[in-house]
Amino acid sequence: MSYNIDEKGYYGEFGGAYIPEMLYPNIEELRQNYMKISEDPSFKKEFNQLLKDYVGRPSPLYFAKRLSEKYNTKIYLKREDLNHTGAHKVNNTIGQILLAKKLGKSRIIAETGAGQHGVATATVCALMGIECVVYMGEVDIARQAPNVARMKMLGAKVVPALSGSRTLKDATNEAMRDWINNPVDTHYIVGSVVGPHPYPDMVARFQAVVSEEIKWQLKEKEGTENPDYLIACVGGGSNAAGTYYHYLDNMDVKIIAVEAAGKGIDTGESAATSVLGKEGIIHGSKTLLMQTKDGQITEPYSISAGLDYPGVGPMHANLYKTGRAEFIAITDDEAMTAGLELSQLEGIIPAIETSHAFAVFEYKTFNPEDIIVVNLSGRGDKDLQNYIDYFKL
Ligand SMILES: *Cc1c(COP(=O)(O)O)cnc(C)c1O
Repeated sequence: MSYNIDEKGYYGEFGGAYIPEMLYPNIEELRQNYMKISEDPSFKKEFNQLLKDYVGRPSPLYFAKRLSEKYNTKIYLKREDLNHTGAHKVNNTIGQILLAKKLGKSRIIAETGAGQHGVATATVCALMGIECVVYMGEVDIARQAPNVARMKMLGAKVVPALSGSRTLKDATNEAMRDWINNPVDTHYIVGSVVGPHPYPDMVARFQAVVSEEIKWQLKEKEGTENPDYLIACVGGGSNAAGTYYHYLDNMDVKIIAVEAAGKGIDTGESAATSVLGKEGIIHGSKTLLMQTKDGQITEPYSISAGLDYPGVGPMHANLYKTGRAEFIAITDDEAMTAGLELSQLEGIIPAIETSHAFAVFEYKTFNPEDIIVVNLSGRGDKDLQNYIDYFKL
């Protein structure tokens, strides 16, 4: 059995492409071409060159000495926070913009909630000189002013979604509508391992550079490619998918996925999708999502905007269902405390999303000889005001 995708686009029972007929030509064009293009040597050369010179890869694998001492185990940090734009998201947007160019597309659309994916998309569109339209809920535009400013500075057009709750899912609907109306010239850059096949697999492959690097970096430092544990936070699941990718079928390596429990799993204000979710269809894929008895999607809640999503990608739904990964839900308070601790033990201020992953060390005891790799998915500059307000600094 493999934990990777099968030829039909499923991870176990999850995945597939549940889309309106009008979207079929767009998705089919991608499905038929994404592997052919991304496996082509000229594509790989350009992708790797940009990851190196533009993003700044390889990102370091850093041994966190003081954090390791505190928890009496060996902790390495995969420094995705040091990438250009401050997180892992750019690995995927670089891959997709190159793919869009090879498909002859001249226009990019994206949807964004907190604005991080919008910024990563606007960045690569500026890099390539391609028109960029980002859909964003009107409520999110008001809440995320600095990222809206960044997107505009980068030359993107930010279009408010005015329907429904005026947040991420409404922005997604607008983006879908746009794509249906512009199937020939437009590519839709999805920001995580979610959406209809082939998106989850395509995004996972672009993020897989993370575990590809961990393998040789850990070999250099510890004489083995295999850590005992991999830890990553899960919103949609892209930084986690990248961290796990080359280890999915290697049972010597244990996998921990960290979700946002918000104010607590049982409070009704949470985003612990796997634990609370039921099988259903969201954004064109069959996965686990939080919903009411009659199938209405529940509003998620987390202090971190990037984990505030009512579903998880199908890869993670399968990792949960099969028990391949251990899922841990971390509350807002636990995450904030862990973020402050990492700042003061290592001089690294993490994104609040990432802080959730570090809270695992209070939650679970590891052996002194265990080698643990945590994906430090992003830096905390964007979250400073949140930290300041929370700790009254
Ligand atoms: C967006 C984001 C996440 C959550 O997205 P995934 O697709 O689950 O990785 C996590 N960390 C950071 C820093 C982010 O910006």
